[in-house]
Amino acid sequence: MDNFDLHNHSTASDGLLSPTQLLELGARHGAHAMALTDHDTLDGLEEAAAAARRCGVRFVPGVEISVSWGETTVHVVGLAIDPGSPDLAAGLRSVREGRLGRARRMADALATMGVPGTLEAALALAGSEQRLSRTHFARHLAAAGKVRDTQHAFDKYLGKGKPAFVAHRWAGLEEAVGWIVGAGGIAVLAHPARYGLKPLGRATLLEEFKRLGGEAIEVVTGSHRPEEYATWRRVAEEYGFLASRGSDFHGPGESPVEPGRLPPLPASLVPVWTRWKH
Ligand code: AMP
Ligand code: MN
Ligand code: MN
Ligand code: MN
Repeated sequence: MDNFDLHNHSTASDGLLSPTQLLELGARHGAHAMALTDHDTLDGLEEAAAAARRCGVRFVPGVEISVSWGETTVHVVGLAIDPGSPDLAAGLRSVREGRLGRARRMADALATMGVPGTLEAALALAGSEQRLSRTHFARHLAAAGKVRDTQHAFDKYLGKGKPAFVAHRWAGLEEAVGWIVGAGGIAVLAHPARYGLKPLGRATLLEEFKRLGGEAIEVVTGSHRPEEYATWRRVAEEYGFLASRGSDFHGPGESPVEPGRLPPLPASLVPVWTRWKH
């Protein structure tokens, strides 16, 4: 089997391992090719590419873009993008610039619930204002003993509809797909099972994504439960999407699947890597 793992995070966004540590871990687990797909940033790609060369792993430069689709936040992964694309870089910068203001509002909400000081603590974990994510808040809440673990921080405070959730405008779907395609990449709808969409909303999103130039969806991902794979296999077949496979790894002990350790894609699907593997 081709062991391609095309969705991973590093300390350049909300992962716990450096790009080098991430590539080394994937290589140990037998990954043949890996993408780094940090949220709204290309910062880790150069380091990851160098580490991949040392480890004998084929490297796929990537990114995971935060998108607002109506009231729903969806994630679009760009694969095999040109990291030098000025339009992609400018677009991602504009998305990142919203993170500090949103984080302030999350911290204010937490303070009114009797949990002060979270902005400073999350910032210390993130290392930069433009990297601030809910994951850093969740890690702080867990470390401070406010919740049992990071998952619980989302369930109690940070998830959609919870008291410290702050609605935010990310990139538009058309913009995000445009930046990816303009950078020579392939746009992949990340973990489609995670958006809580009803059948009509789901169909509308998939059709719009395809019309805008989206070519693939994630089927086998650490962010889907294994029993969800079959549903999204059928969706990929029905809409004619290429299929992607990626662990969505964030850190040891925090993510359900380690890099390079997912089951294979169902044999009936056309893997996204057929688009660039010659
Ligand atoms: P943000 O971009 O700041 O909204 O943070 C989104 C990140 O938080 C995702 O990429 C995941 O890493 C994490 N996340 C989102 N929802 C959950 C959840 N329900 N449970 C655990 N982690 C989550
Ligand atoms: Mn994340
Ligand atoms: Mn995601
Ligand atoms: Mn991800």
